[in-house]
Amino acid sequence: MRPDRDPSTGRFKKNGGRDSRANSKRWRERHRETAKQRIKQWSQNNSEYHKLLRKKWRKAHPEAEKKMKNKYRAAHPEKITQDWKKYQAKRYGMTVEQREAAVKSRQSRCDICVLIGDMTPVMLCQDHDKATGQNRGMLCSRHNLGLGHFNHSPNELLAAVEYMKRHSQLQLKAS
Ligand SMILES: [Zn+2]
Repeated sequence: MRPDRDPSTGRFKKNGGRDSRANSKRWRERHRETAKQRIKQWSQNNSEYHKLLRKKWRKAHPEAEKKMKNKYRAAHPEKITQDWKKYQAKRYGMTVEQREAAVKSRQSRCDICVLIGDMTPVMLCQDHDKATGQNRGMLCSRHNLGLGHFNHSPNELLAAVEYMKRHSQLQLKAS
């Protein structure tokens, strides 16, 4: 039987028996570098449309997107750290050098961790006064997030301390 005929029906196959998808896949496999270059060129020539396609794809494949992100993060830890430092510096109106100097001066230790005797060096976030926008000290992400959850309000934090004390006493009494 001729290859362009369907063996079960004996009829001519569509497209002369050629599977254009499989063909182009084969071509891409044989010409990996050229294919890569062509895709790159195309995405450069159609950058806005490419962006839109990527956005659509990410929305349709959240799990794959997460996997890709994690893979990238694992493969480029230095870049991730650098980007984060740049982001932190820019966000709080500092240069990367100014931020580095502030980190160095406290030997990468969180201002709250130090108060409770934890001298472990950590990645530091710039803390700022929400009301005035002024930069304060530098904190580990846990303590920075903690303050955020309490609306950066000393009153809320003191109320939490009061609450903890009260319940610790109750627990002590009960036991
Ligand atoms: Zn801390």
